[in-house]
Amino acid sequence: MDKFFHSVSLIEELCSGCINCIKRCPTQAIRVRHGKACITKEFCIDCGECVRTCQNHAKVINRDFIKCLNDFEYTVALPAPSLYSQFNNITDINAILTAILMLGFDDVYEVAASAEVVTEATKDYVNTHREQWPLVSTACPSVVRLIRVRFPNLIDHLLPLHPPVEIAAAAARKKAIEKTGLPSEKIGIIFISPCSSKVAYIKEPLGMEKSSIDRAIGITDIYPLILAHLQEASQSPLNLATAGRIGIGWGRSSGEALALETDEYLSADGIENVLQVLEDLEDEKLSGLRFIELDACNGGCVGGILTVENPFIAKTKLKKIKESLPERHTEEHKHMSYEELFWNVDVVYEPVFQLSGNFIESVALMNQVNTIYEKFPKLDCGICGAPTCKALAEDIVKGNATENQCIHILKQQIHEISKDATAFANDTTLNAANTPDYVTKLKKYINQIATLDNDLNREK
Ligand code: SF4
Ligand code: SF4
Repeated sequence: MDKFFHSVSLIEELCSGCINCIKRCPTQAIRVRHGKACITKEFCIDCGECVRTCQNHAKVINRDFIKCLNDFEYTVALPAPSLYSQFNNITDINAILTAILMLGFDDVYEVAASAEVVTEATKDYVNTHREQWPLVSTACPSVVRLIRVRFPNLIDHLLPLHPPVEIAAAAARKKAIEKTGLPSEKIGIIFISPCSSKVAYIKEPLGMEKSSIDRAIGITDIYPLILAHLQEASQSPLNLATAGRIGIGWGRSSGEALALETDEYLSADGIENVLQVLEDLEDEKLSGLRFIELDACNGGCVGGILTVENPFIAKTKLKKIKESLPERHTEEHKHMSYEELFWNVDVVYEPVFQLSGNFIESVALMNQVNTIYEKFPKLDCGICGAPTCKALAEDIVKGNATENQCIHILKQQIHEISKDATAFANDTTLNAANTPDYVTKLKKYINQIATLDNDLNREK
């Protein structure tokens, strides 16, 4: 398992070094160096904000495509609840599920059905673990990663339950093995994902060693394929749907929290709002809450970077679909073991932002950062390739950048050299061009100019 696997990466040839993405990254994971954006893998939470921002399409999400069905003898599709909100005039989810089978999948298992299982387990856990209130949902992997790298004090508030997609994958695999008699490795459990965060989750799952999900196809990629079969599938849909209103509600923000039937909850969506809530929670500004639902994308999963519909329209569509469904509370969670539902590997703090593992050294380094920072104009212009002046100061202390990368410092240095060189040129005592002093000074200026030129060319 790669500890820092990421689904988001850069196509270098397409990057113009425009610095737009460095400003949007919630963890300041991006720097523009040598004219290209590069991601610090320890900092990235796979939220996909940089993919949204890049006008040049230089940031991509590494995912699987429909041809991955050929890798297995038997395949099961796991559609995310948000998938249903992408289509127009859907009155019966069975039509979408039937169209998925027409693409070559052998079976389909709704993630929304498992969301109902997780809802019931969450209710039980929240009611019996008052000491951890407010419990923070762990369904959005980007939010959990953000907490792991930036909010160590909040780790104890994480709900230690597997997300619905994981529960669905395990149940789908079990069912497929029973039905076909095939060994597990010949069965492909393929998630239809709304976002980059859940694509990354498969390779680096939470609270477990290995995910039961084998591949992840983006909604963006499968949407046109489903659409092509939808009309035919609508004429004679198979009876495949098993999820009710509660599970499908998970596809939009607040859906998970509303299902818990308590007023003592808070829900926030959009990465900037999420950051604000986490900061307030860390500062103990929030009280009287049992549960907090946080979604990195605007609107919840319907706003994922791998969806095709406007998230606000998608939310309305999902609401409409839900209204036509029974509540359909499942009893399945009562038959599942603790191990099947709950984390069996601890989710721990990743101190990736610390300047040193040693506290005293950290304080000394932070003082250096502050001293360097004071030299900067504090405009946070981004021209240096770092998102803020503070971030550049930290990069310098870590040995990853130089002060000259700040265009304002560079301007000052050029001004100093020019002033000094002018005085030298006007110094009548050194008018004999071949004296050793004259040559030494001339060499000094040539070297200084060459260094600045080097620095400039290195960074752009
Ligand atoms: S937004 Fe980022 S990745 Fe896209 S071109 Fe600009 S610097 Fe490169
Ligand atoms: S995916 Fe999110 S966290 Fe990672 S580099 Fe892009 S904006 Fe930053």
